[in-house]
Amino acid sequence: MARAAQDSRVVKLAREFGMKGAGNPVAFVVDRCVRQVTAWVKEFGPSNLEELLETVIAKVGLIIEEVQTDDDLEQIPKRYLQGGEGGFGRVLQAFDDRTFALVLRLRRPRHGCAHVAVIDCRGRKRARRWFSIWHEVAHLLAEPQLSFNFRRTVVPDKDPVEQLMDSIGGELAFYRPMFELILPDGVRPTLGHLEDHRVRQAPSASREAAYGTLIGRAGIPAVFIVAEMDFKASEHRALQTGFLFPQAAPTPELRAVRVVSSDLSRGSGLFIPRNMRVPPTSVISRVFLQETADLADKTWSSRELLSDWSDSKGNRLADVPVMVEAGRSGSRVFALITPA
Ligand SMILES: [Zn+2]
Repeated sequence: MARAAQDSRVVKLAREFGMKGAGNPVAFVVDRCVRQVTAWVKEFGPSNLEELLETVIAKVGLIIEEVQTDDDLEQIPKRYLQGGEGGFGRVLQAFDDRTFALVLRLRRPRHGCAHVAVIDCRGRKRARRWFSIWHEVAHLLAEPQLSFNFRRTVVPDKDPVEQLMDSIGGELAFYRPMFELILPDGVRPTLGHLEDHRVRQAPSASREAAYGTLIGRAGIPAVFIVAEMDFKASEHRALQTGFLFPQAAPTPELRAVRVVSSDLSRGSGLFIPRNMRVPPTSVISRVFLQETADLADKTWSSRELLSDWSDSKGNRLADVPVMVEAGRSGSRVFALITPA
């Protein structure tokens, strides 16, 4: 993000939003977009994030078309082509593996909407759907004066303006006033609380993104982990360069591939480095090894010691008693760790 803050186009956008003097242009533009959305929230009173999205796309004049199947990808452009929108002739070809969304300008606006976003929700792109939509909304919020006929969103994209849109989209996708876990004093958060909040607010957001955001913002010590089979960092590098001795062929282990900690975690000794291997004795490992069939929505808890976690050199984490709750999500395990 440091690079985006120095980019001349990003600075120019911030100036157009009224930033004077020095300052972080990314933070400034994000804040301005959030303020705009807050004004609409006050005016229209959406009751959850799905309704907020409806409100915002209406205000920026965006039609969302979701591609769920290969057939959709043929039918959607056809519909617009028949309506005289020649630009849609490029849509079918434009969706390659890295392209998650397209935005097209309509020659003739429909119901006050001048742009159409075509969002690819097929296969692995499905998990990003919620962000993909908000990313396109961000373009229209941040660059309303910009008139583009055709634009592709590819992932990943290192372009500073695209990263700015990710920052705006990421903030709005989980608009803070509607997306904070508030529990009565002394109540330990559970994966069930996170899921209830997600379902109430943004059922189409991915569980991983929603849980991570809620824990990152939580006002209590807590760590959210996604565990899956993976190599350690040095093994990844070796595999990429092909520099491996046959006898040193690495085997993947169950690792914390994603770790999100609340601000208060460190102070309570709750710290788990990313990519650390999960102890075989942990409930996380046990859940991982169970058959998946009837495990959806079920979780298991156990009281453990953080010092059970060790790296390959034998270094151990702090000697802190914790409660670990774990549940299966496909080939991964989601876990919530709180002080015991
Ligand atoms: Zn974009």
